[in-house]
Amino acid sequence: MVRPAADEPERVAEAALRPRRLDEFVGQRVVRDQLSLVLQAALGRGRAPDHVLLSGPPGLGKTTLAMIIAAELGASLRITSGPAIQHAGDLAAVLSSLEEGEVLFLDEIHRLARPAEELLYVAMEDFRVDVVVGKGAGASAIPLTLPPFTVVGATTRAGLLPAPLRDRFGFTAHLDFYSDDELERVLVRSAGLLGVELDARAAGEIASRSRGTPRIANRLLRRVRDWAQVRGDGRLSLDAARAALEVYEVDDRGLDRLDRSVLDALCRRFGGGPVGLTTLAVAVGEEPETVETVAEPFLVREGLVGRTPRGRVALPPAWEHLGLTAPAPTGT
Ligand code: ATP
Repeated sequence: MVRPAADEPERVAEAALRPRRLDEFVGQRVVRDQLSLVLQAALGRGRAPDHVLLSGPPGLGKTTLAMIIAAELGASLRITSGPAIQHAGDLAAVLSSLEEGEVLFLDEIHRLARPAEELLYVAMEDFRVDVVVGKGAGASAIPLTLPPFTVVGATTRAGLLPAPLRDRFGFTAHLDFYSDDELERVLVRSAGLLGVELDARAAGEIASRSRGTPRIANRLLRRVRDWAQVRGDGRLSLDAARAALEVYEVDDRGLDRLDRSVLDALCRRFGGGPVGLTTLAVAVGEEPETVETVAEPFLVREGLVGRTPRGRVALPPAWEHLGLTAPAPTGT
């Protein structure tokens, strides 16, 4: 019997691999340590902990940590996001239905509309929402007291959060890219959960091409598993990993198609820059935010791209990576 291929939507596959408790969460030692203190202290006092802000590039574990925070507190979790909240009233409805001790996860918090943001300040600080009744001159605000709860905000762009909102978080953690060793541990754990045999060298190969990101590591693991199942003998060997990653166009530095097209546009179309983010994004057919939050942090960290006040520039390793010769610097 033929079973349907690709029967796991990515989200479902991802959820199955999420660590559920803090001690299963790989890496980010400092953040884990600090968070563990915040949570244990709150549990000891029998109170909701301070609000927590998690920042960092996509796929490093912000959603996972929010779920872990709720699990460690034995609290239930409500999930919403900045873009899902169009009006202050939407947020007021969510806040006023929170139960004592609940954790409210606000993903992409930097994208909350301004009026909702202002409502959130008050709710976070004073545990109160002002429900507006009526319209125009006859409108009045009825204060509604909220039970203590904890907001876990997540953002890929902490710099965009207005200071008053940032200040209302008692604990802020920045998640950084993972080392290859940490990603290998993520992969070994995930392979165990998926019930596949993962060779240590294959784990190293996948880790080194995962752009420091567990979500990418898990995704590549699933693609290597597909390859091993369809074209190999089912085992995730080094050869299987290399062959699969070639099929999926993930190069030896872990750059994918978007990363390479950013580098390509920067070097070939704009002569190495400087070029503005919006122009660069148009050239690769993506939203500026995608280029800025998905491709750029890794390209900058790898020393391939630089940010200057006049725009993005290709650094010498970028030219080298594309097999191009950097233009000679022009003297002044
Ligand atoms: P986004 O902001 O794009 O939603 P995120 O930072 O919230 O990304 P998550 O969804 O939490 O990222 O993590 C992506 C996947 O990576 C999860 O399914 C989880 O399995 C895995 N993962 C993330 N961090 C870790 C970790 N520290 N240890 C093990 N697995 C992890």
